[in-house]
Amino acid sequence: MSDYLDLLGLPFMQRAIIAALFTGLAAPVVGTYLVQRRLALMGDGIGHVAVTGVALGLLTGVSPVWMAVLVSVLGAILIEVIRERGHANGDVALALLFYGGLAGGVLITGLAGQSGARLQTYLFGSITTMSEADVLVTMALAGVVVLLGVGLAPQLFAVAQDQEFARVAGLNIRAYNVLVAVLAAVSVSVAMRTVGLLLVSALMVVPVATAQQLTRSFRGTLLAAMALGTVAAVGGLLISAAAPDGTTVAPGPAIVLLALGCFTLSWPIGVWLRARQRLRRPFPVVTTAAHQAVGEDEHPHEHGEDCGHVAVQHGDHVDYVHDGHRHAPHGRHYDEH
Ligand SMILES: [Zn+2]
Ligand SMILES: [Zn+2]
Ligand SMILES: [Zn+2]
Ligand SMILES: [Zn+2]
Repeated sequence: MSDYLDLLGLPFMQRAIIAALFTGLAAPVVGTYLVQRRLALMGDGIGHVAVTGVALGLLTGVSPVWMAVLVSVLGAILIEVIRERGHANGDVALALLFYGGLAGGVLITGLAGQSGARLQTYLFGSITTMSEADVLVTMALAGVVVLLGVGLAPQLFAVAQDQEFARVAGLNIRAYNVLVAVLAAVSVSVAMRTVGLLLVSALMVVPVATAQQLTRSFRGTLLAAMALGTVAAVGGLLISAAAPDGTTVAPGPAIVLLALGCFTLSWPIGVWLRARQRLRRPFPVVTTAAHQAVGEDEHPHEHGEDCGHVAVQHGDHVDYVHDGHRHAPHGRHYDEH
């Protein structure tokens, strides 16, 4: 035990713990918006593109982290452009980009006269070999991601939730979409030293999926995901450091498996919470007499399964709670209650 504490006191471990802390805090911030927009695998795609950036860094002698930031930001903007065009073959274009990024990275690493082992430290993480400068870069980039991701939460959430609504509300959709893509690219570059490029996406997405089990509001999900990401990153690192002599537990996989363990635990809790909430939901008070019709001109909004209004089963039909009262679609008008 005292050996373990001695190990944690060593400078390389302290640098690793600080890096894990900042990575765990920042990665789920962007992950929250990606999950909201059903782009959970975007981080993984950017991670593949970033491999080429790392390789270019090894080839040119420029810092691999900064080259990864540069190339993955370019890749992220390209991905956003392809997505926006909405081509039928959009996912094929993305796949080609991802494979090209990975294959190009391995090829360039060889051209640079570097062994695959060097590249592997970026593919699977190498948090315990970080220099003081590496840690400072990680802290700065993670700080930017957290500041922008949390500070602009209302706007980013509005855009992620409903693009059409946000456009009508006067938000610059493209600017915010590109911002999320760029923040995702920066997060990937930050997390590649901690969990590695091939597992980056897990640290961005799994804490968010866990938080969604336990929280109802968007802000709650964002904050809980940041807390869970930090616990997983630091906890996974501490577990890997406790590996018995003669064995190796790589920090990256330990972090990801710990995050997945938290998700597995949260699942039954989420099921229970949702069941309890259904029981507790108060039945809205009936204010006016039944069957008072409202013409469709007076009610431009069309209610449906996912319209955002609370739906209440009422006998043989479904009522929607709207502006403090309930009504049900009936042919081309609404029946008020
Ligand atoms: Zn509605
Ligand atoms: Zn009704
Ligand atoms: Zn209504
Ligand atoms: Zn009617």
